[in-house]
Amino acid sequence: MKKSYLKLNSPVQYIKGIGPRRSTYFKKISIETVNDLLFLVPRRYVDYSAMRQISDLKINDEATVIGKIKAVDVQRTKHRGQIVKVLLADEFDTIAVKWFNRRDLKNRFKTGDSLLVSGKVTFFHGRQIVNPIYEIITEQEVDKTQGTVIPIYPLTEGLGLWDIKRAVRICADECLDDVQETLPESLLRKNDLMALPQAIRNLHFPGNLQDAFAARRRLVYDEFFFFELILAKRRSMAKHETGISLPDQGVLTHRLLDVLPFELTKGQVEVIKNITDDMVKPRPMNRLLQGDVGAGKTVVALYAMLVSVENGYQSALMAPTEILAEQHFVGLSETLKELKIEAVLLTSSIKADARKQVIGKIASGDAQIVFGTHALIEEEIKFNKLGIVVVDEQHRFGVMQRAALVNKGINPDFLVLSATPIPRTIALTLYGDLDISFLRDKPPRRGEVLTKIIKENKKQDIYSFVKNELAKGHQAFVICPLIEKSEKLDLKSVDEVYHEIASIFCDYSIGVIHGRLKSTERIKIMNDFRAKQLDILIATTVVEVGVDIPNASIMLIEHPERFGLAQLHQLRGRIGRGTQRSYCFLFLNRYLAPETYERIAYFEKNNDGFALAQKDIELRGPGEILGKKQHGLPDLKIGDLEDDKELLFLARDDAFGTITKDPEMKSSEFFTIKKQLRKLTPKEKLLSIG
Ligand code: ADP
Ligand code: MG
Repeated sequence: MKKSYLKLNSPVQYIKGIGPRRSTYFKKISIETVNDLLFLVPRRYVDYSAMRQISDLKINDEATVIGKIKAVDVQRTKHRGQIVKVLLADEFDTIAVKWFNRRDLKNRFKTGDSLLVSGKVTFFHGRQIVNPIYEIITEQEVDKTQGTVIPIYPLTEGLGLWDIKRAVRICADECLDDVQETLPESLLRKNDLMALPQAIRNLHFPGNLQDAFAARRRLVYDEFFFFELILAKRRSMAKHETGISLPDQGVLTHRLLDVLPFELTKGQVEVIKNITDDMVKPRPMNRLLQGDVGAGKTVVALYAMLVSVENGYQSALMAPTEILAEQHFVGLSETLKELKIEAVLLTSSIKADARKQVIGKIASGDAQIVFGTHALIEEEIKFNKLGIVVVDEQHRFGVMQRAALVNKGINPDFLVLSATPIPRTIALTLYGDLDISFLRDKPPRRGEVLTKIIKENKKQDIYSFVKNELAKGHQAFVICPLIEKSEKLDLKSVDEVYHEIASIFCDYSIGVIHGRLKSTERIKIMNDFRAKQLDILIATTVVEVGVDIPNASIMLIEHPERFGLAQLHQLRGRIGRGTQRSYCFLFLNRYLAPETYERIAYFEKNNDGFALAQKDIELRGPGEILGKKQHGLPDLKIGDLEDDKELLFLARDDAFGTITKDPEMKSSEFFTIKKQLRKLTPKEKLLSIG
């Protein structure tokens, strides 16, 4: 083997022609080492063999062309939008290329640049391509010596496509032989996967598109496989870990059933059985309870927490928002008082003095049930004897936060409640290490929810209708997307909506709630609303999850187009919780693009949380529906949970199969896997792999 001046772990600055200054540009796209660069997956590929002459393009063709920019122009549209218009020319012909509302593009295109565009040819005063994918290319890049399929890499300021390609070429020449296979022969053969070094080569220098896709497929499989392997390993270890045996003694739990104003549903009884069966075992429970909004998950969680308390342990319930934590605390306080249980609330807006006291009670064990938000995870919070951790609406927490709370005890039981009907792909990644229970039924005699889109000119009719409902003693939510008027967004704010509603509903009391109010103020407002001292509550999405006011039967949503389908379903889940019929009105204040209108119309017609979540994922991708920051999804570099789901299922089966067959992966067959796993999770305490 020849001696190379680079190693896989060499920093990119040592690659010939890069140096310290340029290496900072690579850092911006998370490339620090030679290895990172070799595993940099192109955003897409351009197949030069499919490239067309502009003169050949016909209306309705899906085409890719390269031309020189002859002119760049910006025009205004009637609806305050903008069009960036480029005239693109090749040797013989020209075509208009337009982008709508992409003002940012204006300065990106310069006359004389070569531009590659790919999109559909349509007709409007001549042939045009609207909103195509595009790539600015330098002369060198139209370099056919590399083959006809050219990878397009993610770009960043200071780095051209050519810089990346040249660096990749050097790394491949120097270090490709050092790339080690991570999967056993058996899995490669079974799934028809390329060897890893070959995949890397094909990723960057494919002979044709098929090779490029096969290479990507191999890398995506790897990513999914090792992610699922960690879950499988964690799950198998949890099954062998020592936990606390917490039998359902029927002391507090049966008293709970006595004081509840209703009978449990069949579904609730069933999932409670799942849970108590887990809790009595001397192993930690790791269970996800899924049930649509309003299915009655809270009382199930309460039951489980009481089992822990009646065994002399503490219980913790962590919610994603302060409002929700507050609501659980307030909503269950009556019941808990009756059962003579001491409960406390801990959120970050609780003042220093009170906080000190609460923390003290948690540490001493006086607090038997602890409600809270992320604040519970903080270092200084110590439990005396934690028996169970319940996490409500958990899709907003990441795996790490989950672990952080569980680590406050010694292998406590763990229960996750989720109302987002999570498609299988996501359940397998987010909760791959959990057992799952489904709460399939809903409490009986629920009033139906009627959903209707309302155009501006019909708003007054709806207001009269709402007055009628309020007169019967019912209550209403009004949801709007913004707290304050924004310069940038032409949307109604809470303030504006308040003035509008106040002028129409003068005889009614109106409250306003949003995330910027103090915790104590919010608790008071929610209490007032629950106590019917307020008829109408104007709110932002702080009421999105979990809020439970059975007497509220009306929801007016301003700018429904600003919300995702799953989010709208969560919002709508705030009504229809009593026995009366409920109404959800979606106010359209302006013209919506057809696809946006269709999305809202889909919501109008559909009341099935699962169908809505699935649709939402198709439309916007999984990260979006689960909330951007804290969705807790794995940080996938290559794979896409939706597009690559077949591969995910395959990788999952293989990973779990491996662990079932050989939990310690002792067989020599799994040597490569084990080695890679150790590399991926060097500090992972949960995974003691031999
Ligand atoms: P979610 O599953 O969305 O968290 P909640 O636990 O908030 O739902 O329950 C929704 C409402 O249904 C609450 O008002 C709760 O008191 C009520 N509820 C729960 N279980 C039953 C039942 N078995 N019978 C009647 N009402 C119930
Ligand atoms: Mg809930």
